[in-house]
Amino acid sequence: MSKRDYYEVLGVSKDASKDEIKKAFRKLAKSYHPDVNKDPGAPEKFKEVQEAYESLSDDQKRAHYDQFGHTDPNQGFGGFGGGGGDFGGFGFEDIFSQFFGGGGGGRRRDPNAPRAGADLQYTMTIQFEEAAFGLEKEIEIPTEESCGTCHGSGAKPGTSKETCKNCGGSGQTTVEQNTPFGRMVNRTTCSYCQGTGQTIKDKCSTCNGAGRVKTRKKINVKVPAGIDDGQQIRLSGQGEPGKNGGPAGDLYIVFHVREHEFYERDGNDLYCELPLTFAQAALGDEVEVPTLYGKVKTKIPAGTQTGTRLRLKGKGMKDVRGYGQGDQHIIVKVVTPTKLSSRQKELLQEFYDIGKEQKDEKHDSFFAKLKRAVKNFSE
Ligand SMILES: [Zn+2]
Ligand SMILES: [Zn+2]
Repeated sequence: MSKRDYYEVLGVSKDASKDEIKKAFRKLAKSYHPDVNKDPGAPEKFKEVQEAYESLSDDQKRAHYDQFGHTDPNQGFGGFGGGGGDFGGFGFEDIFSQFFGGGGGGRRRDPNAPRAGADLQYTMTIQFEEAAFGLEKEIEIPTEESCGTCHGSGAKPGTSKETCKNCGGSGQTTVEQNTPFGRMVNRTTCSYCQGTGQTIKDKCSTCNGAGRVKTRKKINVKVPAGIDDGQQIRLSGQGEPGKNGGPAGDLYIVFHVREHEFYERDGNDLYCELPLTFAQAALGDEVEVPTLYGKVKTKIPAGTQTGTRLRLKGKGMKDVRGYGQGDQHIIVKVVTPTKLSSRQKELLQEFYDIGKEQKDEKHDSFFAKLKRAVKNFSE
């Protein structure tokens, strides 16, 4: 894969000022940041933008790039940098502090700094009626808690953490190299202590030094009446616990509501089909219609057609935010009988004969209209 020109990546001219380059980078980095842009191509773009910025924001690297293009500067110099993206420049934290309006803060992630726990997601499947009326349900989710044996230190009881001998407690190691471009200082996270600045000589046997153990916790979830399939609620602070005193994440409960035998839901309204015999539809009737709140007597007017809609006001779903209640819509379906007794056949035949004249008239006028329409269409 050939690399795109760094100036092209940032959308700036070859003689762009440092300020222009910085501005262009911030704008692009924000729009491609993986926490903001969920596009599958975004992380790649983000990397590309970051790499372009790293080269063009540094005078030496820029000069080298202008002269040699994409020729790998690592070649022949024993590889400085390495690891990718951990030297100089602009890390994720910078972008974050941009988002939240704060400046300052180190470029490097401090492993001892408080870190918020991750948000967790839990899918809860419920019945249609449970969604209609709400319920309380206890769920169990996996989580971590501070190790009871070592009280979170990770060190065997009676022992304590020691200052890392490799980095002297700073969490970072510095490697200096002389290169044809001058002295390069490369700082990396201390590999002995993973940047914490402390090491554990005798690890706690319960948590193997992690200070945390996996566990499960029970949470009582109040499902609000009217919740719809795919909707979610957020339980603040019920996600993964934070680290180093950081806040816990949130728990998102995503609902999957099972389909109902009769009802179809659209917003807060419910739809159901009501099968009627031809006689009921023609003569009118009074029928009992099931609703979520019990049966309701409903008048079917004489001459009701298939597809006619009747509305039962206020018999739909409760609004999940408390804004009233939907309706139940009944869609009439006139069912043609398939099994007839001989007496029924006899009566229907009589009915047919009486109506034949009327029917023929309607039939003829329908076909006359259709013929005209087809003729007009084909001309
Ligand atoms: Zn422990
Ligand atoms: Zn260390």
